[in-house]
This record gives sequence, C-alpha cells and structure tokens, in this order.
Amino acid sequence: MNRSEQLQALETDTIWDIIIIGGGATGLGTALDASLRGYKTLLIEGHDFAKGTSSRSTKLVHGGVRYLEKGNIKLVREALRERGYLLKNAPHLTSVQTFIVPVFSGWEKLFYGLGLKVYDLLSGKLSLGDTQILSKKETVAHLPSINAEKLAGGILYYDGQFNDSGLAIEIAATAIKKGATVINYCKATGFIKNNDKITGVECLDVLSEKKYSLKTKVVVNATGVFTNAVVQMDDYTEDDLVSPSQGIHLVVDAKFFPGIDAMMIPKTDDGRVLFAVPWHDKIVLGTTDTPVDTVSFEPKPLEEEIEFIIKHINRYCTTLITRADINTVYVGLRPLVKQKTKVSSALISREHHLSVSLSGLITITGGKWTTYRKMAADAVDNAAFIGKLNKEKCSTANTQIGDELEKENRIQEILKDDASLAEKIHTKYPFIKAEIVYAVKFEMAICIEDILARRIRLLFLDARLAIEIAPMVASIMAIYLQKDKSWEAAEVKSFTELAGQYILK
Ligand SMILES: Cc1cc2nc3c(=O)[nH]c(=O)nc-3n(C[C@H](O)[C@H](O)[C@H](O)COP(=O)(O)OP(=O)(O)OC[C@H]3O[C@@H](n4cnc5c(N)ncnc54)[C@H](O)[C@@H]3O)c2cc1C
Repeated sequence: MNRSEQLQALETDTIWDIIIIGGGATGLGTALDASLRGYKTLLIEGHDFAKGTSSRSTKLVHGGVRYLEKGNIKLVREALRERGYLLKNAPHLTSVQTFIVPVFSGWEKLFYGLGLKVYDLLSGKLSLGDTQILSKKETVAHLPSINAEKLAGGILYYDGQFNDSGLAIEIAATAIKKGATVINYCKATGFIKNNDKITGVECLDVLSEKKYSLKTKVVVNATGVFTNAVVQMDDYTEDDLVSPSQGIHLVVDAKFFPGIDAMMIPKTDDGRVLFAVPWHDKIVLGTTDTPVDTVSFEPKPLEEEIEFIIKHINRYCTTLITRADINTVYVGLRPLVKQKTKVSSALISREHHLSVSLSGLITITGGKWTTYRKMAADAVDNAAFIGKLNKEKCSTANTQIGDELEKENRIQEILKDDASLAEKIHTKYPFIKAEIVYAVKFEMAICIEDILARRIRLLFLDARLAIEIAPMVASIMAIYLQKDKSWEAAEVKSFTELAGQYILK
C-alpha cells in the first residue's frame, strides 16, 4: 500500500464506477467487495483508516448474545454466520475466545445455560465449540480472580476476538490488490451534480491540500457517526439519520483476570452486558452506552461511565480495580440509526440501515464490525443498481484477507537492510522496530498516531508507555518519510497531547 501511487489515480480523468466515502469497517468492506466484482472502485478516508469507531470496539467477533435475550434470532443468526466467515478468512487477525458467565443461582444457571446453548446452536456448522455448564469449582478454575462467595457456577461459551484496526488495514490492502484505489487523509468535501443526480465527488488531499473533482457513476456514504454531515452535503434539508451513543473501555493489567478466559456479565444495573476480555497482555473492560449530542474523532469518557465499569467489575473480582490501575481509556461512538420514538439507545437495533437519496447517494450505516461483510455486500448490490453497473456476484465470503507470509517476507527484507530494527520497541512488548518501518512503507502510516494507535496498538494498551516511546517512533519514521528534527518534535508534541486524553487523571 503506497499512498503516492494511490494518489496518482486521482490525476487521471477516470470515470469511477463507485466512490466510497469513509475508510472504517463498512467503507473498506465495500471497497473490497466492489473491486472483487470488477468495478472501478475508489475509497477516500478523511483521516486514517479506522480512525473512527472501527478502532475502538470491544474487539469481539460475535453474534450478540444480548440480541438473543430480546428474541432477535434473525440478527443473531446472521452475525454468527459472519463470525464464521471472518474467522475463516482472516485467521491471523482473529481468534476463538472462551467466555465465562458467572451465575449466582440455579435459576440463572438454567436461564443463561439454555440461552447460550441456543446461541451456539444458531451458529450451525460454524459453531466454535459446545456451550458448557460449569460447577462452582470449575468456574473458579477458569476465573481464578472471581469472588466465589455467592457463586453458583458458570456457563462457558465460545465467540471470536479480533484486532479491529489491524483488520481494517488488511482489508484496505486486499482491496488494493484486487484493483481498488484506496487513500487515507483524503476528505470528501462536496458532490458534483447533473440534473440533481450525483455525478462526482469533490475531495481534498488533507496532506498536500490539493483539491480534486472526481467523476463517478455512484457514491456510497459509509461515514459511521459522521453520516449526517455527508447526507447534508448532498441535501442540506435532510434530518439527522444517525444518533451517536458513546461506549468506553478501560484497559487494565492481566493480573486482575489471570487466565485465558474472558468474563461476560450478563446484566448490569442498566440492563446491558459487560465484558472483561484478554487482549495482548491486558484486559479490556467494557463497554457503556451513553447517548451523546455531538460527534468527535476523540470523544471523551464521562466520569459516570468510568465509575460504572469499575463498580460493576469489582462486584465480581477479589482483586479490586482502582482508577490508578487503568492503563488506557478509549472511547468509541456507535452510529445508531435514529428512531422517531424515544427509546433507550441500548434498545435500538444494531441491524444496519441502507438508504438511497433522491440524487442517488447510497448511505449505509449502523450494524457492527462483525457484520461489515454483509453490510458491504448490500451496499454494493444497491450501488450496482443505482450506478447501472454490470450485475456481478459478491465473492467476499470466500476471499482471504491480508497476506501474512508477504508481511513476514517484507519484515525480513527490512531487517536485512538494518538488523538493528529487530530490537523491541519496548522490553515489555513483543513488537519490534521493523514493524514501524513496515507500517510507513506498506500501510500508509503518516504520523506517530497512525503507528501507535492503529498499526501497533500501544496507545490502546498502555497510553503512558506509548508517550514514552513516541520520540523513538518519530525518529525511525523521519528516516523513511525524509522528515527533519522539527517534524519529529511537532509529531511528538501532538501525539503526547492526544495520548494524554487516554490516561485517567
Ligand atoms: C464502544 C463500541 C464497542 C463496539 N464493539 C464491537 C465489537 O466488539 N464487535 C463488533 O462487531 N462491533 C462492535 N462495535 C461496532 C463497530 O465498531 C461499528 O459498527 C463499526 O466500527 C462502524 O464502522 P463504520 O465504518 O460504519 O464507521 P467508522 O469506523 O466510524 O468509519 C467511518 C469513517 O468515515 C470517515 N469520514 C467521515 N467523514 C468523511 C469525509 N467527509 N470524507 C472521508 N471520510 C470521512 C471517518 O474518518 C471514519 O474513519 C462497537 C462499537 C462501539 C462504539
């Protein structure tokens, strides 16, 4: 993935078959699907790939246990099928994860036991393993730090886990290999219309500030929580389509949850589920669901959300977590499709929404990471119809994402040129310096944040440590991007400011 090469395609007088705005899960999935169908495809992302919600998930590839409780079988079955495809097509970025639900009465054991057996049954041939009912002793063996005082036992079930932004970047790389043009830091700023129909997109290369006017047969708006702005760029009289709801995660050391199992709390005080999931050598705790008024690239956690997670998790643990134990707090915004009636955002369906405006703009939003492939397929089916493209079949269900071997070979090439890059970026983590070079050369990383937030996930694992190593990252990047010391200093300053927001004061 080379950004300059990708940008060259904008210099030509191409009429694109499809332009996709937004490089999160939905947009990137759409670009991959469209390129596989042979359409001349362009994706522009205003920031870095997965800068929005797609790097801020709980990292679960799941059917959504709680939708089952609401009786939404169709939604769960579809997501479980997608879970199966994702684990099959991106095995190096996903894994099977065991979850334990602690229960405190015979009734809970029966209720959650049966529910999670149905959850597994719904996955059919794509089952990841049988749901098991555990005794108290077995539950403690799986969750050694659990407060066993009133514990009656537990339920063990299987779901998936993944590296969200890693997957986004590898979907981008795969789409490029299949013929798409995919560019980060390139923002859609307006539409070109002919007889009230969209025939092109105005965009800005944020890095060079160069403007482009691009021609296309159809446009897909996949901008997540930023959907309203793009919809209103098409028609300023349109009402807001999406309402943001915030979810925070706290990341703590694994000592609070020793072992390999995740814990799922099936009912918090506000009727939600809460997870404690192992991720690298840390535990991700989350999430919340708080309706907010404004959208932002860096949403802030609310005090009550932090307290909510700590309070609930501590009810289950013997080693109590305090604010001082939090390595990182990260926040994402759910793009929930607005409903006319006032309902709690925890109850609004995560099923995705697709609409076509009078001018032909296709907007796809909602859903979840797990179902990005299905959302993309729907978007491309509709785009083919609106753009009068040749009807071609979707083939993403059987398309491998990324190329692990190619990455490994490239890293070896980098190390051949400079053996010192085999050094770890920090003694506490397995990542090596050559991965920084790889991200610059092959993954379109432009700044420290691109590296430490979305290529090597240190900002999400340990924000203080990310700040500590930022100068080293800048100095390596500067060599390969041909930047000077003042660039390094400015980069370190802006990353330090950003990362400060991931640390609890
Ligand atoms: C707290 C939380 C936890 C979650 N956990 C899970 C989970 O564990 N598993 C799961 O399956 N799902 C999960 N989800 C849901 C999932 O993360 C989202 O549904 C998904 O990431 C949305 O992707 P998207 O591409 O639609 O939006 P985004 O990832 O937000 O992407 C939209 C992109 O559009 C870009 N953009 C905006 N305006 C423009 C413009 N004018 N020009 C160009 N680009 C533009 C933005 O920069 C952004 O990168 C979670 C969501 C939240 C909030």
